[in-house]
Amino acid sequence: MNTQRSTREYQRLDREHFLHPFTDFKALAEKGTRIITRAEGVYVFDNEGHRILDGMAGLWCVNVGYGRRELAEAAYQQLQVLPFYNSFFQCTHPKAVELATKLAEIAPGNMKHVFFTNSGSEANDTVIRTVRRYWELLGEPQKSVIISRKNAYHGSTLAGASLGGMKWIHDVGAQPIPGIVHIEQPYWFGEGRDQDPAAFGVAVARKLEEQIQVTGLDRVAAFIAEPVQGAGGVIIPPESYWPEIRRICEKYGILLVMDEVICGFGRLGQWFGSQHYNVQPDLMPIAKGLTSGYIPMGGVLVGHRVAKVLYERGGEYAHGFTYSAHPVAAAVALENIRIIDEEKLIERVRGEISPYLQKRWRELGDHPLVGEARGIGMVGALELVKSKSPVTLFEERGKAGTICRDLSVENGLVMRAVGDTMIISPPLIITKAEIDELIEKARRSLDQTDKAAKGAGYK
Ligand SMILES: *Cc1c(COP(=O)(O)O)cnc(C)c1O
Repeated sequence: MNTQRSTREYQRLDREHFLHPFTDFKALAEKGTRIITRAEGVYVFDNEGHRILDGMAGLWCVNVGYGRRELAEAAYQQLQVLPFYNSFFQCTHPKAVELATKLAEIAPGNMKHVFFTNSGSEANDTVIRTVRRYWELLGEPQKSVIISRKNAYHGSTLAGASLGGMKWIHDVGAQPIPGIVHIEQPYWFGEGRDQDPAAFGVAVARKLEEQIQVTGLDRVAAFIAEPVQGAGGVIIPPESYWPEIRRICEKYGILLVMDEVICGFGRLGQWFGSQHYNVQPDLMPIAKGLTSGYIPMGGVLVGHRVAKVLYERGGEYAHGFTYSAHPVAAAVALENIRIIDEEKLIERVRGEISPYLQKRWRELGDHPLVGEARGIGMVGALELVKSKSPVTLFEERGKAGTICRDLSVENGLVMRAVGDTMIISPPLIITKAEIDELIEKARRSLDQTDKAAKGAGYK
């Protein structure tokens, strides 16, 4: 099937027909798209044959790397045996049962149940429904408010975007649905660098307690947060943050939801990010690394406290998707988890490859353009600044980040820019030599960005 078109032809048809997600259509039409045609290991290849190190693992998801025959074969076999059947009307199928059982085995503590969806956004819609259902069944339907955080990302359906705390998303036809409030985020570099990090972590966590008092405990249902904020710019809370959040949730008896869509499946060196922080959530939305992105699938892991009420009280939970627990997705997820297990990828991340990545990534902190180099597990961030001491941010936010991102791709490395924060989240299978290549390309991109910023007169 060799129907490959020229890059220009793809770009023309793309411009004429394809509305891309999170895209300025006008700007993209002028600039043209990059056509990615294949991928292997940690590399993607474009239509011109350029080999690019994928420092973002697709979109935080290709944890086991590209080109895994086992995953393709798992899908192919399942497509032949049972390509689809629903799980609505008292039916189930073997792969869904196997996957639910496996997830119950790897999930922390008492999370023995899972509700399947097709994406992280749908998982967070399901979170809202489940949290409210729980309190309704307990006879407290007025407990419906969910506390989230500014600059959180929980997806792009209307409910997911509402849970998320990104105003620039709300402003595009996504005014938050009622019953969601947002508190401050634990972003030390951005919002607390004049304070001691530990004190800042506790102070920001206490915003949850303040909000519970403002809203009224009789109305608060749950708190939701990512263990480490991903799309917000790899925001790693101070170590003091999560213990204080856990204390507050326990004190007031509200449900704790940890959005594991990015942090799950090895990204922080444990199966789930909550395990890294030693916090037991009541609900965990998952997606991305669940299938390493080979096929769409998400879900919500449900702990004993909520599951007990759902089972004991009965009554139809009127929620679900045609493709909930899709057999092909379930087969791929199972095989993906088997690979992570058998190749001991999580142990490798924790013991060997994350320490190496983090050591090398922090070396970039000495660059004149970098105000902070931080990271944890297999994620990292660089804060680009106008000057380092005292730290001065660029007046026009996001410009240096965009330049650096574009130069980085030219240099053969996918880094993403969130404003002036450069972020990475490479596949877990990346080798030390590939990390060296990543660092070298990142440094070169920083040098060139520094030069470009000076040339354009804003540094
Ligand atoms: C990506 C993401 C989502 C949304 O997942 P989709 O599959 O894109 O709908 C939700 N939460 C977090 C933390 C994410 O990073």
